[in-house]
Amino acid sequence: MDFGTICRVRPTLLPFSPPSIGDEEIDEVAATLRQEWLTTGPRTAMFEAGVARRVGAEAALAVNSGTAAMQVALAAAGVGPGDEVITTTMTFCATAHVAHHAGARPVIVDVEPDTLNIDPAAVRRALSARTRAIIPVHLHGHPAEMDAILDLARDRGIVVIEDAAHALPATYRSRTVGSVGPLCAFSFYATKNLTTGEGGMLTGDAELVERARPWTRHGIDRDRQAAAGKKDSWWYDVVLPGFKCNMSDIMAAIGLRQLDKLDAFHARRRAIAQRYSDAFASVPQLQVPVERPHVTSAWHIYALRLHLERLHIDRGMFIEELRQRHISASVHFIPLHRMRFYREVYGLKPDAFPVAERETDRLVSLPLHPLLTDQDVADVIDASLDVARTFAR
Ligand SMILES: *Cc1c(COP(=O)(O)O)cnc(C)c1O
Repeated sequence: MDFGTICRVRPTLLPFSPPSIGDEEIDEVAATLRQEWLTTGPRTAMFEAGVARRVGAEAALAVNSGTAAMQVALAAAGVGPGDEVITTTMTFCATAHVAHHAGARPVIVDVEPDTLNIDPAAVRRALSARTRAIIPVHLHGHPAEMDAILDLARDRGIVVIEDAAHALPATYRSRTVGSVGPLCAFSFYATKNLTTGEGGMLTGDAELVERARPWTRHGIDRDRQAAAGKKDSWWYDVVLPGFKCNMSDIMAAIGLRQLDKLDAFHARRRAIAQRYSDAFASVPQLQVPVERPHVTSAWHIYALRLHLERLHIDRGMFIEELRQRHISASVHFIPLHRMRFYREVYGLKPDAFPVAERETDRLVSLPLHPLLTDQDVADVIDASLDVARTFAR
């Protein structure tokens, strides 16, 4: 045995994506709790304005999840029964669930081989007279091909709602995601690039975003109070059957201080992704993620792909070998067409998804977050190289 090749195993398990919360967020939450206003209020308004400014959007609407941002976007766009919503198989289930809950039919399509983002050619093939919305997902933080998708939607009365849960702060052709298409949904879930614990934001055209606003609070329209000439503070009207998914000022307090750090977080994610790619680019068992020349990725997920024909082990065993070296890894995502609900209710078959079928079983997401130290990054690299070499064929 060649003991020289045994890699150092770090003493503790490296977590996959812990939140990066500091005293700034804690102090802002404490200040909020000492005041009288806890629900949607001044801090939510400031957070909306801050996100709108950062992404260059006309308007922003804070909600309690990224899922809710997509749900109210569909509602505001009038998507409902009889309509079809085209989205990608390489996503989290929420992206298609929102279409189902709107009463529409989710139409799931295949992806491009390099980015694993929704394939505009597959979207074109899936268009029908019933298509009312397209939900591209900026997978792992790399923007989907928005120009091609917006071209398909234009003149057909189709609304494009971006699932940008991974994509703060990505850019597409020099524009920040959030101001590229008409409506864009961000998630501030605990693991995302910016967190409010749970939370989300819809950004985009002012007219569409404002149409979504009453959908976040039961369809209550207090502005109509003035319009209707009612002065009584207790009076309100319900103008549509809204949901209940507004953001509280406690969540917005976290978001405001996270937003201050977003660019530093992103720079760190970028630098770590670069170190990973430099270390893995020439390893025959590994394939590194791409960044197309006209985009900058938000680097939410670093998705390595395994060349399984050059390994004795499968993806599951690769992740287990990393875990034994105290490195947590994960998978983003198991495609929707493999999920029982979508198979059974929407009749999805693997042969309709040749690219996703070929790529999904070789995906491994490595830890990527701003708290990683240079030593942590070196540990991830050492462990990955050790597993690749130990099980090389
Ligand atoms: C996290 C995530 C969502 C859902 O966001 P929530 O804020 O948890 O509702 C939607 N789509 C993708 C691709 C995600 O990763």
